[in-house]
Amino acid sequence: MPPPPMIPHNRPLVTREDRAAVDAVLASGWIAQGPAVQALETRFVDLQGGGAACALSSGTAALFMALRVLDAAPGESVAVPTYACSALLNAVAMAGARPRVVDVDGGDFCISPSALVRQAPDARLAIAVHAYGAPADVAGLQAQGRRVIEDCCQALGGASAGEALGKQGDCAVFSFYATKIVTGGQGGLLWSRAPALAEAARDYRQFDGRDHYVPRFNFQMTDIQAALVNSQMDRLRAIAERRAAIARRYMAALPAGLGTQAGLLDMGRLAYRFTVLAPDAASRDALWVHLSARGIASIVPVERFELLHRYLALDPEEYPQAERIADTSLSLPLYPALSDAEVDQVCLALEEFRI
Ligand SMILES: *Cc1c(COP(=O)(O)O)cnc(C)c1O
Repeated sequence: MPPPPMIPHNRPLVTREDRAAVDAVLASGWIAQGPAVQALETRFVDLQGGGAACALSSGTAALFMALRVLDAAPGESVAVPTYACSALLNAVAMAGARPRVVDVDGGDFCISPSALVRQAPDARLAIAVHAYGAPADVAGLQAQGRRVIEDCCQALGGASAGEALGKQGDCAVFSFYATKIVTGGQGGLLWSRAPALAEAARDYRQFDGRDHYVPRFNFQMTDIQAALVNSQMDRLRAIAERRAAIARRYMAALPAGLGTQAGLLDMGRLAYRFTVLAPDAASRDALWVHLSARGIASIVPVERFELLHRYLALDPEEYPQAERIADTSLSLPLYPALSDAEVDQVCLALEEFRI
């Protein structure tokens, strides 16, 4: 008998309702940016309790737009956490600004305000990633006088102290890439409490038919994507609850000697990843082997070589927390498309693991 298929690390959940919503757009004769995109923007204004939204082609485009509408000047320093994806560097480069890479907190994996003072003293702007749903210390950055872009790409539907994430900073950005909490295949969105900032982004996106020329760009989302995102947004609460329920199961099954990212089961916390922390790289690798042998795919969510300070050839000794996380972390399958039987299989495998 062939071995049973592996449980993948991630898998999008596209329901019959999602497909019907996309089909309706295809049948409508209007498939470019149109009413479905507008409905998505309205939905985010409701979700965030006001402000204004601008749907875009990707989370990276939304980061770029946030830097642009906050007037990032050529060569200006922008603080970014090193434990993040290269999209942050790409957006800063596209804006013509200069990344100042900052170490993260070893507990919650988010940008460390105290490291920021040391490593990016002159940065007026900071990108705070809510890493795997963990609320970054936005107030701590603002207390230093920074303007903050909240990267909510991994935190949609998450809250901290009862408030939806993204409302504290100057702008919030979201992604609808295939592996994110809600997906349109690709897509992104910028939201701001200040309607003028989102309006500036919308002006930049609306490149066609203008009465005078200034450089703009086509960062538009299609109604096909927006229909898929809207349909999934209808289930956002259920998605968040299912993720939290799976995270609670894994936590209960975690063997002695393994830790996790801090705050994973906090109230309102969106559980984007369940990241196990092993005491060292060897036991992390052993866990990967153990899970693979039991049909479970796990990944190192950010490999050491992907840390932003490594990409920029900065001294690794300046980034001890991120280095340690990269060397000892492993991410388990955590998504609503997991069946109960698959969750049981992961729990059993965790319980059987011995360091
Ligand atoms: C996915 C992601 C991005 C980039 O979003 P894309 O839609 O893939 O461009 C940016 N920041 C974080 C934290 C992400 O997880």
